[in-house]
Amino acid sequence: MYDFCRMYAGGSLAGARKLCAGTTDIAINWSGGLHHAKRGEASGFCYVNDIVLAILELLRYHPRVLYIDIDIHHGDGVEHAFYQSNRVMTVSFHKYTGDFFPGTGKLDDNGHGSGKYFAINVPLQDGIDDDMYLTIFKTVIDDTVTAFSPSAIVLQCGADSLGCDRLGAFNLSIAAHGECVNFVRAFNVPLLVVGGGGYTIKNVSRCWTYETANLVGVAVPNELPATVYDSFFEDSHWKLHPPLTGNIENQNSPASLQRITMNIRNKLRYLQGAPSVAMQEIPPNIQGLLADEDRTGEEKDEDRGTGQAGERRNDRHTARNDFYDGDNDVDIGDEEDSTRRTTAAPKRGRGSRRGKGRGRPRTSTATASTENADDGEATPTPRRTRGRGRGRGRGRPRNADKNKKENEKETDKESVSVLEADNPATPMDVDAAAS
Ligand SMILES: [Zn+2]
Repeated sequence: MYDFCRMYAGGSLAGARKLCAGTTDIAINWSGGLHHAKRGEASGFCYVNDIVLAILELLRYHPRVLYIDIDIHHGDGVEHAFYQSNRVMTVSFHKYTGDFFPGTGKLDDNGHGSGKYFAINVPLQDGIDDDMYLTIFKTVIDDTVTAFSPSAIVLQCGADSLGCDRLGAFNLSIAAHGECVNFVRAFNVPLLVVGGGGYTIKNVSRCWTYETANLVGVAVPNELPATVYDSFFEDSHWKLHPPLTGNIENQNSPASLQRITMNIRNKLRYLQGAPSVAMQEIPPNIQGLLADEDRTGEEKDEDRGTGQAGERRNDRHTARNDFYDGDNDVDIGDEEDSTRRTTAAPKRGRGSRRGKGRGRPRTSTATASTENADDGEATPTPRRTRGRGRGRGRGRPRNADKNKKENEKETDKESVSVLEADNPATPMDVDAAAS
């Protein structure tokens, strides 16, 4: 069991790592997506929450991560892990009746402390069909992306929301489930796709095959090829898209879904724009703790920040206000940013604040706000006061301690983000303009 957990959690971590290094735009781990596991307990067939681990890895580089969950069950483990964080927005679409597993995820559970309104729940009833699901999914996700402006997205694609699932009670077709994936992909934001539930196995394999094809931009025929698994698919005459819909009465109404949509839209107004991350701690480098493990050449490149994704990659998403690309990053000529950031090996020592607030200071302070008192709780990772990345030459900047003391004198409400001095691959950058 432990080996199994290591494999699926390692897969999601490796995907997050590649997204941070820029060596891929989309990473897929169908064996991951075990969204019910908690820090202190296993739950709902989930032992280790690979999604939480992957998001923590993404937070080392990305200022804001959006988590989307289309499993029929509430993504409670992920929501719980980031319930007090404004850097991770969780959005879960699920069946909610109060007694359906895991029993959480009602419309008014929306986060706490700094994370207030950064958890969205879309509670649905049995039998929701393609049209209704796609309408509410696209509306809520569109509003959320607009309000939160994520720099990375994690999509949990549990296939138990399909019609004919052994445990689920929705009426979704594989085409509609896949349309949700396409919709998220179209935002062109670094995307980690993971699996999840799904208990009619032949439809799970169909669904994730179709979604893999969509994610890599390939059209696959409806006719399944001949394989040793043909007997599983005989009942549908070996089709990729069998009829799955209409088996369960739809207990959702357009009016009930409209109420949910409006409720969520009102809550998103409280965000008042995407939050700055200037005052946040950088989560620990989980894989950096494994310095002794064998690493491939590609992984070593990623460690050094010299990983490449091929010559044709010139359309990678960058959230420009959030990133500082070294000495070559000047506000004039920003259109060349995307090519520069793959080649620059920046020297350090620039001023800490520049004209448009896009600087990358070694230490940074946040404008005090009413919520800053909660900063220490904003991410569930322990505060680290010593150098990270043991044995790998990633110590703190030499003057970090000095600056830290000076800043802490200014106000108790300010906190300090110490940036890694010599690793250009993991810039946790600062958006002073948005504060
Ligand atoms: Zn599920």
